[in-house]
Amino acid sequence: MSHELIEKSKKYLWLPFTQMKDYDENPIIIESGQGIKMKDTDGKEYYDGFSALWLNVHGHRKKELDEAIKKQLDKIAHSTLLGMTNIPATELAEKLIEISPEKLTRVFYSDSGAEAMEIALKMAFQYWMNIGRPEKQKFIAMHNGYHGDTIGAVSVGSIDLYHQVYGPLMFESYKAPIPFVYHSKSGDPTTCRDECLHILEQLLIEKHQEIAALSIESMVQGAGGMIVMPDGFLAGVRELCTKYDVLMIVDEVATGFGRTGKMFACEHEGVQPDLMAVGKGITGGYLPIAATLTTEEIYQAFYDDYDKLKTLFHGHSYTGNQLGCAVALENLRLFEKEKLVEEVAEKAKYLHKLLEELKSLPYVGDIRQLGFMCGIELVFSKETKEPLPKEKRIGYQATLKMRELGMLTRPLGDTIVFMPPHVSTKEELKEMVAIMKEAIIEVTNEVTSVGA
Ligand SMILES: *Cc1c(COP(=O)(O)O)cnc(C)c1O
Repeated sequence: MSHELIEKSKKYLWLPFTQMKDYDENPIIIESGQGIKMKDTDGKEYYDGFSALWLNVHGHRKKELDEAIKKQLDKIAHSTLLGMTNIPATELAEKLIEISPEKLTRVFYSDSGAEAMEIALKMAFQYWMNIGRPEKQKFIAMHNGYHGDTIGAVSVGSIDLYHQVYGPLMFESYKAPIPFVYHSKSGDPTTCRDECLHILEQLLIEKHQEIAALSIESMVQGAGGMIVMPDGFLAGVRELCTKYDVLMIVDEVATGFGRTGKMFACEHEGVQPDLMAVGKGITGGYLPIAATLTTEEIYQAFYDDYDKLKTLFHGHSYTGNQLGCAVALENLRLFEKEKLVEEVAEKAKYLHKLLEELKSLPYVGDIRQLGFMCGIELVFSKETKEPLPKEKRIGYQATLKMRELGMLTRPLGDTIVFMPPHVSTKEELKEMVAIMKEAIIEVTNEVTSVGA
């Protein structure tokens, strides 16, 4: 049965962000999950070390979440949000506004983080159009940023490996540097932050007249390598956006819903975005719901008689899906009931100590962490920070080894991602970190033994 399914998967599927040759060599089919573990079709169990790609919150098959979907299913699965609404979408909107930064008062739904970003970009663009300043059409994107894989989101993304090939399809955006302390010349967070803010300000002085918005991930660049921004950077960017009359789009798709030890990561700096994209953890990792939150000022710029043509002409078939919104509501109710944000903040301190122990390993260069978002960067030389030989794909090999040892995650180059579900206990965190340690030791031993 398992063998047959594996053959079918190789024959019919094309997986996202996957070189299918890799899949064919190391196939895996998940059959079930319980708590923070998943089981494959051979009955092998794995810790979910990456929250099913940064989504999961309460573990798998959380009773209350399962029941919220079943209960909604007895009423209706889906209608539409075009020109009408439904009960869970309305209640969820109220809840989102209640828990998000104060300035945000309106919710526009979609189905994925990339779409939430597309919508933010269109809102920002059309906002200036609608208020009579059509010259503001350009965007500023951060180096190494990631906002999803649709063309608009890619246009404000900046990871060469993923984005360069699509260059001719993108709209142009200005790029501003992000403070990557570990790889900076000074290695000093404050110096690194101030240099980046200075360059951003120069760009704004020169170009702000034509700039609609700046887009930035909140506190941590996820796909770019789990790069944690130094204190004061996000707040500094906010100040500059305000000073130069540029809207600030904050991408909380990965960082939102408690992942960093705050409900939204921008709370670490008291930042109020003009537009905020959320997704991933919003449904606890159950169903595809995302949203773009914005201010009353932006909303009002689209509100007029129909023939003024100020409507936001954007929507998706499944937007505001009842099953998804119902489970998201229950997810947020559980956040309160189980004090999950505080829990993550507290357990993150323990996790920090566990990760410190990896620092002494020979090829561990940098360990970056904010809450339960962690990246462990492997390097060839700890002194010079010289990278490992690319063709050896050590990050990838390490995650294959972890799979063997009973934990799933995905690397970002030679940075190992560790992003366990919020409910992981200290004991479970300890076991998962032990697996990472063993895998890192084994694969890096192999590097040295072949004389690299
Ligand atoms: C995952 C991610 C996205 C894209 O979300 P999808 O649901 O995969 O489209 C956007 N921004 C950030 C920061 C992400 O981590």
